Amino acid sequence: MQQIGPVKIIEGPNKSKVPYSRSLYIDGSSEKVLIDTGADPSLLKQLQLDSGIDLIINTHYHPDHTCHNTLFSDTEKWINRIEYHMPLTIEGISKANGIFQEWGHDGVKKWGQEIPEEWIKSLTEINGYYEYEKQYSFGNVHVHFLHTPGHTKGLSCPYFPDLGIVFTSDYDMTSFGPWYNGTDGCIEEFICSAKRLLSLDAKYYITGHQKGIFNKKQFHAAMINYLDIIDQRDEMIENYVQKGYSFDELTTIGIFYPKHSLKHSLFLTWERSGIRKHLHRLGYTVVNSNMSRIMVKK
Ligand SMILES: [Zn+2]
Repeated sequence: MQQIGPVKIIEGPNKSKVPYSRSLYIDGSSEKVLIDTGADPSLLKQLQLDSGIDLIINTHYHPDHTCHNTLFSDTEKWINRIEYHMPLTIEGISKANGIFQEWGHDGVKKWGQEIPEEWIKSLTEINGYYEYEKQYSFGNVHVHFLHTPGHTKGLSCPYFPDLGIVFTSDYDMTSFGPWYNGTDGCIEEFICSAKRLLSLDAKYYITGHQKGIFNKKQFHAAMINYLDIIDQRDEMIENYVQKGYSFDELTTIGIFYPKHSLKHSLFLTWERSGIRKHLHRLGYTVVNSNMSRIMVKK
């Protein structure tokens, strides 16, 4: 287990790759706080047995960061203020994931039958929220929950100014690139939040998935390549539109996800909602998804 001062880094299986994520454990002498619960469940349970967990904090509502909330039914759980006030129900989550936007009521109904029960249960157990941009003290450890929207509307990145640590959660520098594919995601906000992370006085950037710990210089270099993927997606989509592809045709190519994975309805949903965002950014409006000429430039 890696540790920077009082902050322990708890890995998820497979280098914390989705559907898992990295968790942080703040060992601030009097108060023990776990940030996100996507790490290996046996490690999390062991932590609880060895040192205790007084409070769980979720950076955002996605299941890879909240999935093991259910292991700690008696522990207080907080999420950011925006997502605490979001309907964390099947309907609310299916709207945020683009299910309603892409497939309407029938899609929501179908998804409601398929969604793992734990996904919603892990959210309904959340019983409080934290404010953004305010200092919290857990024992002697000070944390600010920065509002870093783009990935989701409410995502916060916990920043420890005294320790020079920031937990960048899903600003994760993976080769997949930025994810803003829910209806509550936004490309422009994503870029702003990424720039804000770079502007912090931080020595350690800890991502929620795969790569792990970066120093500031490494994080800066990785961020340039990471954000560049947004421009590459723009270019690819613009080229296909110029060739006369319809919206439905565009969504079968595999701009975000590998083509073969688009047979899974959730990936196809995210592929579609992601492409919509780029089309909007490029100045196109989808008029009718299956007509051959569907894009209208503003
Ligand atoms: Zn996420």
